[in-house]
Amino acid sequence: MSNNQNKFVKFVKNNVALLLIAFCAVAIFAVVLAVGLQPDVPPIDEPVVNNPDNTPSDDVTPQPTPVIKTEIVKVYYQCPLVYENEGMGYTDGKDVLFVYNSTLNVWKTHEGVDLIADEGTAVCAMYEGTVLDVTETYGMGGAVTIDHGNGVVATYASLSNVQVVKGQVVDKGEKIALVSTSASYEFVDGDHLHLEVTKDGKHVDPMPYVNGEIYNQKEVKVPNN
Ligand SMILES: [Zn+2]
Repeated sequence: MSNNQNKFVKFVKNNVALLLIAFCAVAIFAVVLAVGLQPDVPPIDEPVVNNPDNTPSDDVTPQPTPVIKTEIVKVYYQCPLVYENEGMGYTDGKDVLFVYNSTLNVWKTHEGVDLIADEGTAVCAMYEGTVLDVTETYGMGGAVTIDHGNGVVATYASLSNVQVVKGQVVDKGEKIALVSTSASYEFVDGDHLHLEVTKDGKHVDPMPYVNGEIYNQKEVKVPNN
């Protein structure tokens, strides 16, 4: 072994730790340099995975909460039956004091309207409400009184086949009975609906309700889209 080789081996043996540290430093420098020289590679988009089976996925995408807004709508009263013509009209106590009642052969007050219709014609609620009373009297025959809300109470009389009971909640347009001649005080006028309406306890002309001119404003919730 030459003298130079001996010197080198001796040097290596004496400086193992120093050489290892130097080697590590060179290696780290090389890695940093390599990473730093990497070209900018654009990110690859996640491939779109089709789901041909339409099977439920484990990915639960949170659904957006639908926004609900409130809207004011007009809900009109509707005609309670298909009628041919108006019989005895409403006596308002001012312009019209009395009407002639051919059954009783007298001029008298009439706090409702008579709507002439075929026997058995369906009578329906003019508006949603709650049945306050169901009665059967000689003078007015079968009668149903419904609280339609907002101070409006309607009495439907001269009925047969009454299909609702006291306390029942009815929808607008729900059939409550049939037209008949059961109101004996108005028998001569034939089959008809005798209809009375009170507003805040006072009789009013039922015809604006029958003609669909009266409405309530109701707040309803609708989707905001
Ligand atoms: Zn009448």
